[in-house]
Amino acid sequence: MKILLTFDYELFFGAHSGTVEKCMLEPTNDLLKISEGKNVKYTFFVDVGYLIASENITELKEERLSVLKQLQDILAHGHDIQLHIHPHWEVATFENGHWNMHSKSHYRLNNFELDTAREIVRKYKAKLELYIGRNVNVFRAGGWCIQPFEPLYDMFQEIGLVYDSSVIAGFRIVTNQYAVDFSSIDSDEEYRFSQDVTVKDPNGFMTEFPITSFRYSPFFYWMLYLKGKMNKEAHRMIGDGTFMSHGNKKWQQLLSYTTGHLSTDGFYATKLEAGLESVQNLGLDKMITIGHPKGNTKYSIEVLDKFINKYRNVHAFVSFDQVLCS
Ligand SMILES: [Zn+2]
Repeated sequence: MKILLTFDYELFFGAHSGTVEKCMLEPTNDLLKISEGKNVKYTFFVDVGYLIASENITELKEERLSVLKQLQDILAHGHDIQLHIHPHWEVATFENGHWNMHSKSHYRLNNFELDTAREIVRKYKAKLELYIGRNVNVFRAGGWCIQPFEPLYDMFQEIGLVYDSSVIAGFRIVTNQYAVDFSSIDSDEEYRFSQDVTVKDPNGFMTEFPITSFRYSPFFYWMLYLKGKMNKEAHRMIGDGTFMSHGNKKWQQLLSYTTGHLSTDGFYATKLEAGLESVQNLGLDKMITIGHPKGNTKYSIEVLDKFINKYRNVHAFVSFDQVLCS
């Protein structure tokens, strides 16, 4: 079994972005620490928009350099970096020590004119490659919002962005910001697609590597919120910003079984073993988790460390570039 531990490397996009130190630098160092000397490779999907938006802001020069330095550190440890796009950075402004994200109105690529959306993808890929000094070819859409893909299809092919990992089988979230509907995808298996990410097309040039899905019980979410409310040191997120609203998702999760992603974040990490078992039962050869440095807790880092130590001689903890090169 190949286990791909992936992390979206980013700030928060709610009212408060949080700090680079707490959302990115510190928790990423924690993740690097538990992988050291173990032949465990991660993939970081880097939200390159932050690096572009902060390019000419003197006040942010130092933190931006720390991020660039950490990206080099990630690569030096043999981990992989791929492309994550949150396009609202195009309109974000920094005033009085605070990011005004405008993420509500510009969260998705299709909130922009088509030509602008295409230009954003082109520019963000080129910039990331410039910053890290190597090519990227795997995409993860901010907030999984890769739909509609048809207007972007030709351009993705042209720039060699031919792999995607934004889909979660059976997952759907539609709010003012989110427009995600993967409810017609019923398996975590990888597939080819062309103009529609939810329609398999063996002749399409794009390959989808879905994030492994998981059925969460209401009990899981009651536990998650209770632990959070008790606000014990171990369960507090390391990231210090605020999330964008997920609409009424929270109540759905507390009242019925819901489909979500297998994740290393916070209390979700407790389901890594159950997720692995279900992937094995289905006879799949890959498990792909999604996490965020900002979403780690002291507890989740411990759980992930134990998970890695238990399975690192049984399964291969590999990055996307390792999977795509083999
Ligand atoms: Zn993201």
